[in-house]
Amino acid sequence: MTAGKSFELKRICVFCGSHEGVDPAFRAAAVELGETMAERGLGLVYGGGKVGLMGVLADAVLTGNGEVIGVIPKSLRDREVAHLGLSDLQVVNSMHERKRLMYGQAEAVVALPGGIGTFDELFESMTWNQLDIHAKPAGLLNVEGYFDPLIAMLERAVEQGFVGSSYREFLRVASTVPELLADLESYQPSAEDQFSRRSDVPTDAFE
Ligand code: AMP
Repeated sequence: MTAGKSFELKRICVFCGSHEGVDPAFRAAAVELGETMAERGLGLVYGGGKVGLMGVLADAVLTGNGEVIGVIPKSLRDREVAHLGLSDLQVVNSMHERKRLMYGQAEAVVALPGGIGTFDELFESMTWNQLDIHAKPAGLLNVEGYFDPLIAMLERAVEQGFVGSSYREFLRVASTVPELLADLESYQPSAEDQFSRRSDVPTDAFE
C-alpha cells in the first residue's frame, strides 16, 4: 500500500472450520458470506478444502459466479480433501508457504467460526500486523457470540499489558455479514499504518 492511496477491497482471505459446527447458524453464515461476496464482486481466497464451512463457503461464492482461489498444501490435496471446482487451486509444499500466499492475495482477512486451524491463521495474520510484515484488517464474524471468549481473552491480555489496545483498530468484530462487509469496505488504515509499513521486508525472512 502506498501513502495517499485509499484502501480498496477486492479479495478477502477467509479462515473457517473444516467442520460445520453444531449450531446451524454457522453454516447459514458461511452461505450468506459467500453469496454476498459474489454479489459484490469480492473474490475469495481460502484454504482450498471441500469439507466443513470451507466447502460451504466456496460453493456459495461459486454458485454466485464469484472468483474462488484455494491454496492447499500437497499433503491435504493428496488426502482428497481439496475442492476441485475452484477458479484456481494453488498447490504448495508447506503450511508456511500456504499462509504467505493466502494473505498475499487479499486485502483483508475474515474468520468465521472454526477450530484450532482457524485460530492459528487469524492470530498469525494479526501477528504479522503487529510486526509490520503486512497491514490487513481482520474481520471476525461473531456468529451467535461464538468468538466472545476469544475477544474477552484479547481484552484481558490488553488489561494485563501483553497486547496493545491498537489491536482493536485492525480486528473488526461484527455479528452479521452486512455489518462486517460494510466495516471492511470502509476501512481506512491509520496514517501511521500507511507510512510505517515496511514493504522491504521479505516475508520468507520469517520462516
Ligand atoms: P479448523 O478451524 O481447525 O477446522 O481448520 C480450518 C483452517 O485450517 C482452514 O481455514 C484451513 O485453511 C485449514 N484447514 C484445516 N483442515 C483443512 C482441510 N481438510 N483442507 C484444507 N484446509 C484445511
